[in-house]
Amino acid sequence: MSALLEVEDLRVAYGKIEAVKGISFSVEAGQVVTLIGTNGAGKTTTLRTLSGLIKPLAGKIVFDGQPLNDVPAHKIVSMGLAHSPEGRRLFPRLTIAENLQLGAFLRKDSAGITQDMQKAYDLFPILGERRNQASGTLSGGEQQMLAMGRALMSRPKLLMLDEPSMGLSPIMMQKIMETITELKSQGTTILLVEQNAQAALSLADRGHVMEIGNIVLSGTGRELLHDESVRKAYLGED
Ligand code: ATP
Repeated sequence: MSALLEVEDLRVAYGKIEAVKGISFSVEAGQVVTLIGTNGAGKTTTLRTLSGLIKPLAGKIVFDGQPLNDVPAHKIVSMGLAHSPEGRRLFPRLTIAENLQLGAFLRKDSAGITQDMQKAYDLFPILGERRNQASGTLSGGEQQMLAMGRALMSRPKLLMLDEPSMGLSPIMMQKIMETITELKSQGTTILLVEQNAQAALSLADRGHVMEIGNIVLSGTGRELLHDESVRKAYLGED
């Protein structure tokens, strides 16, 4: 069986600066795969390219059996690839419910949409309690929950999360990681970009370490968690 997502020799540049220099990886259905690495390694650029927001310079992206290279971003969402971006990008004046509805903008099945909103409220009860409040009033961690809930509203085959733990307190971070584990146990396929390598590798099936545009090391989450070079560079050990 072929993978849900296959990325082959992907290269992405901003003008003359090559941010992604020929990376290859795949994501099997039901897996959580993580890309870790320091600032500027090219993780966000990779996700934005998969979403169709940036055109690659070269390489192949195949999602669910279809090449994505020339597919526009809105079509990519409708094919089942959802992106919860870095910085969350919510609409702060709109309510929580309205932000969730925006995640379903390509769907016409109103009964299914109502059902999925309830699922989001079950996953994150605080969103249900505050559904009619402006999303700008939520804390950082709650906004992250809303960004994840919104991405799930398109019923994605693959959910891409860009730094969900960014700027969160340790308790909130733990809650977000528990939710990712719960989504995984429900069968959701996830591509997770994280600077918090410990948290990401602990729950991922596979991980790839990125450094200045290249994947320099790949393995199972457990292998990378125990790899000496990863421990030194990313887990703060000497
Ligand atoms: P971070 O965690 O900081 O987001 P990252 O691994 O996601 O890091 P990218 O944001 O993908 O890294 O950045 C990769 C490289 O591309 C960096 O050198 C960055 O400065 C550069 N870059 C990113 N966005 C742009 C842009 N819009 N124009 C020019 N260069 C950019």
